[in-house]
Amino acid sequence: MLQDQFGRIHDYLRISLTDACNMRCTYCMPEEKTPCMPSSRLMSVNEIETLTRIFVQNGVRKIRLTGGEPLVRKEAREIIERLARFPVELTLTTNGVLADEFLDTFLKVGIRSLNVSMDSLRPSAFFSITKRDYGERVRRNILLLLDAGFHVKINAVVMRGVNDHEVPDFIELTRHLPLHVRFIEFMPFDGNHWEHPKVVPAAELLERIARDFSFVKLQDGVHDTAKKFTVLNHAGTFALISTMSAHFCSGCNRLRLTADGKMKNCLFSKNETDLLSPLRNGLDVEPLIRDCLNQKARELGGQLQPDYHKIDAETLKNRSMIAIGG
Ligand code: SAM
Ligand code: SF4
Repeated sequence: MLQDQFGRIHDYLRISLTDACNMRCTYCMPEEKTPCMPSSRLMSVNEIETLTRIFVQNGVRKIRLTGGEPLVRKEAREIIERLARFPVELTLTTNGVLADEFLDTFLKVGIRSLNVSMDSLRPSAFFSITKRDYGERVRRNILLLLDAGFHVKINAVVMRGVNDHEVPDFIELTRHLPLHVRFIEFMPFDGNHWEHPKVVPAAELLERIARDFSFVKLQDGVHDTAKKFTVLNHAGTFALISTMSAHFCSGCNRLRLTADGKMKNCLFSKNETDLLSPLRNGLDVEPLIRDCLNQKARELGGQLQPDYHKIDAETLKNRSMIAIGG
């Protein structure tokens, strides 16, 4: 069992398969061109499997593959198939562009729930956020997944003045479609020009939603980061992920592994623990995993202020989101 010094049991691991991506979201990927990691630095398929086995032997029961875009990793299919053999709930967060090409693989290994990111329903705004013209394709793929019976959650990062006016349109989507839209507060990472006025805090968003819709609160799970709601008579739900304005660190059960095999005990942690080099040197990495977990701060990686207005993004020590794995 992986328990930290605050008694939190960690049974959920997010594994980044790559820091490469077929989109260029402004909030995730720094504008300055940073080369992707060379493949020699990435965990190989066997190394991902070995590290997964160690985490599973220590109590991990849920694994989410992420990135970068996990589906652009050339061995994505093989990785999904191999990890699906572990006794875990396996899922992915994807931008959805390649979801149609992976539908058979998902069905074959028993993946039935996916998080798909989509920040705008309007082609021009989708393009200006992602720098790619894939809006229509992502929409089509979301419908394809729904038709195939998947539980689909849409992740939308809400940024003031960029897409916050589209929130009602996203909720409108849930009227007839059994979609679960999650509005995520904009978080600061290396190179993403985060400033506190760009955050639309969950409380404000809820107030704005209440002007257009009558909704009810739904029950959340203990480890849920999303506070769920449904509009009366809608087929789907919506949720708010209030990392910046009301963090949920006390119920945290998440660990992260970057594509280059560094363990992070928190999305916002300054420190990383290299598991890949010791593994390649034939060392036992389990004590390193425990040490890393022992150093986990009580909240916000020990470096973000709970009052997000006081955060100076320039002073934070972290990687970009695309290099961590969201
Ligand atoms: N490429 C995949 C995707 O876009 O879903 C997986 C990786 S992406 C880094 C994982 C999630 O992190 C996405 O839902 C994305 O919207 C979210 N994300 C990235 N940068 C963020 C930021 N600065 N604030 C909040 N969420 C962010
Ligand atoms: Fe790529 Fe996902 Fe980051 Fe967008 S959020 S740049 S799709 S990794």
